[in-house]
Amino acid sequence: MSGFESFLEKAVSAADLAGRKTGEMISYSKLKIRQAKDNNRLSDAYESLGSLCYSEAKGAKHDDEAFCSIITLIDEIKRDIEETERLLASAGDKSVCPACGALAAEDDLYCPKCGAKLGI
Ligand SMILES: [Zn+2]
Repeated sequence: MSGFESFLEKAVSAADLAGRKTGEMISYSKLKIRQAKDNNRLSDAYESLGSLCYSEAKGAKHDDEAFCSIITLIDEIKRDIEETERLLASAGDKSVCPACGALAAEDDLYCPKCGAKLGI
């Protein structure tokens, strides 16, 4: 297996782990973790792209398929990052449960996820 193939495999499994379940309560801390993971995936993707360019500059045969898959992957990761940033921004007017990190409406007295008392 080439380094590029193993990179793609890792990137895909990382995307699976990030799990985009709908309807699930998204906590602020989970969003922050997702953001950090996506940023790491983006760095890895750029690194692979760079290493691909380097090999080519050193005389390796141009691998169009490899280039296309990595560009597609970078676009996907960028979309994920934008989505997470949008969610983080919309979390701005909500309370964050100090016990579990879940988001609650500003006027909620109790956390909808763990039931902890919110606010003062
Ligand atoms: Zn809670």
